Amino acid sequence: MKKIMTGLCAIALALSSVSALADTVKIGMAIDDLRLERWQKDRDIFVNKAEELGAKVYVQSANGNEQTQISQIENMISRGVDVLVIIPYNGEVLSNVIAEAKRDGIEVLAYDRLINNADIDFYLSFDNEKVGEMQAQAMLDSKPKGNYFLMGGAPTDNNAKLFRQGQMNVLQPKIDAGDIKVVGDQWVDSWLAENALKIMENALTANNNNIDVVVASNDSTAGGAIQALDAQGLAGKVAISGQDADLAAVRRIVDGTQTMTVYKPISTLAARAAEIAVELGSNETPESNATLNNGSKDVPAWLLEPITVNKSNIKQTLVADKFHAEKDIYQ
Ligand code: BGC
Repeated sequence: MKKIMTGLCAIALALSSVSALADTVKIGMAIDDLRLERWQKDRDIFVNKAEELGAKVYVQSANGNEQTQISQIENMISRGVDVLVIIPYNGEVLSNVIAEAKRDGIEVLAYDRLINNADIDFYLSFDNEKVGEMQAQAMLDSKPKGNYFLMGGAPTDNNAKLFRQGQMNVLQPKIDAGDIKVVGDQWVDSWLAENALKIMENALTANNNNIDVVVASNDSTAGGAIQALDAQGLAGKVAISGQDADLAAVRRIVDGTQTMTVYKPISTLAARAAEIAVELGSNETPESNATLNNGSKDVPAWLLEPITVNKSNIKQTLVADKFHAEKDIYQ
């Protein structure tokens, strides 16, 4: 009898571990570009949280290459993932590969950046137009009049357009009133600092260094621009915005060479994304607080609030949230 019981227990155990395996949600995370500090944080927090929830995550980074990202997504589809979490390099070119995923019953979550004209299931991000408004408002607070240079993000990134939209909401009335003059407007390929550096060098030359404000859309591009400003002895004199609260940027704010950044609590975003991915993979409907049309459908979304950070509130925001340690900021 005891023998039979042990046998039965073994079968039951084996069955339960098979069903545990079958229940494990498999997630493919396709990241645009792990070369930027911000996405490394997103990955780490996402993977930890998803694994804590019992999921298995495969991560790949396309390092800013459109074709690489499409192949990586195809590879994840053939590996049989249940959910794709995509941070698109180019949100305009993924319709076909997402259609392929949908044919295999895979759920798709657009992470931080919207994917246009595609059958995605959910979108999770911050209020990106508000990010742009915060950047422009901080620049106006610092220099209400003068020559403004607009430095947009990657032209392939839907967010870059939303940031610009937000910036213009705030700047247009001041442009119309003649308070500020836009002396240049450029977009930075792949959001890379080295590209921003070149753009800023050329803009300074073209304007005989007569630039009062740089509306930079994130910290990596601000970093490149500040290098060019520094070479002309203008770092700290020209107001400049940013976004992401990258450690290097926060240090620049403390030093006075960058005016502000926009802090987006990535821990909240990435952890929520992991929950949503697991819910999607378990055929549950995630809670949403917004809906966005991506050109082919109304996509349920969850949008979080960004926070303006300058010299005066670093401790109350970044340090209090343990986003950066105080000792790392004020070395
Ligand atoms: C993100 C920013 C980031 C930028 C460059 C944008 O889509 O929203 O936080 O700085 O991409 O990676």
